[in-house]
Amino acid sequence: MFSKEAFKDIIKKYEYEEIAFLEDKDVGLRAIICIHSTILGPALGGVRIFPYQSEKDAVVDVLRLGRAMTYKASAAGLDLGGGKSVIIGDPSKDKNEALLRAFGKFVDSLNGRYIAAEDVGTGTKDIEVILQETKHVAGISEKLGGSGDPSPVTARGVFSGMKACLREVFGSDSFSGKKIAIQGIAGKVGSHLAELLSQEGAVLFGSEMNQEAAENLKRKIDFKLVPLDEIYDIEADVFSPCAMGGILNNNTIPKLKVKIVAGSANNQLLELEHGNILHQAGIIYAPDYIINAGGLINVAHERNPQGYLKKRALADTEKIYERIKSIINVSKKDNIPTYLVADKIAEKRINN
Ligand code: NAD
Repeated sequence: MFSKEAFKDIIKKYEYEEIAFLEDKDVGLRAIICIHSTILGPALGGVRIFPYQSEKDAVVDVLRLGRAMTYKASAAGLDLGGGKSVIIGDPSKDKNEALLRAFGKFVDSLNGRYIAAEDVGTGTKDIEVILQETKHVAGISEKLGGSGDPSPVTARGVFSGMKACLREVFGSDSFSGKKIAIQGIAGKVGSHLAELLSQEGAVLFGSEMNQEAAENLKRKIDFKLVPLDEIYDIEADVFSPCAMGGILNNNTIPKLKVKIVAGSANNQLLELEHGNILHQAGIIYAPDYIINAGGLINVAHERNPQGYLKKRALADTEKIYERIKSIINVSKKDNIPTYLVADKIAEKRINN
């Protein structure tokens, strides 16, 4: 049975305000929406379509991602709460209008407590299909009055945050000649980031599950494509995870030969203790929800009463540089891991 009751033992380990399950056999939809917190505003978060190996994996993912959105919005100073949704399925095979519209009705039933945006497996066009069933969406195209695809802005934020890390380690913001290993290099964020870094003279390595997308990107920029598992072994200055979460763990951290971890993926630390291990190893970890907030900052600007203005959204995204810099400073001064410094900043607003 696909219901809250069936997963109650897992769910009770997490904090959240609301978790809702939907199964619609007619359209093949199994979806979960987690509203983690609405203390600072409605819970805005992406819709992830992913072929989870088990329903349990999907439940854990939505709960962890929902929390990350609350912290991301809070630390970025936004008046938004945090939530997330997952649809179990392969976006290349299972995504269609009927499924997205059934999901849209599900979002609508929450009366604006959850606002759906794009994530892994969804894009601006999918959000516009969902819009046919509910106004509680963000990240629609600019021609419909929205802010468009948030991924390029997320990439800009990661670029700024990475720069702050370079400044700390090398005493300079320059990417020229810096070796950067990007996991998920041909994804929506990874590819934009790779283009920005390439323009600045960085030497790029990349891994990518989607070989066709990797080959297409290779026609635009120069990078060395490495097998999926070898990305952790690259001797580089920066490892930039831009694919899935949980990739900083007991198996991967001992392999890393980098000084900095800075990428867009959500929930990069498998467990919080992995943030401690990175700290002890002297690797600067740019907390994921701080460095990848550009997309959220961009969609949040859609809610501005004066309307969306790209210039304003980009200026706010640039602030990620200062945020990362000050987190690194506190981490060094007080000898505490960067993820804990970030959590304290986020919790200050949520708990006030
Ligand atoms: P995406 O699906 O477009 O890109 C992910 C890429 O990683 C894909 O090309 C996929 O083939 C590849 N991939 C998946 N598993 C891999 C693996 N094990 N090794 C190598 N490549 C792999 O998604 P995206 O929108 O670019 O998001 C990337 C990450 O950044 C996700 O964790 C997402 O939650 C996070 N994020 C995205 C945004 C945004 O604006 N898109 C904002 C904040 C956070």
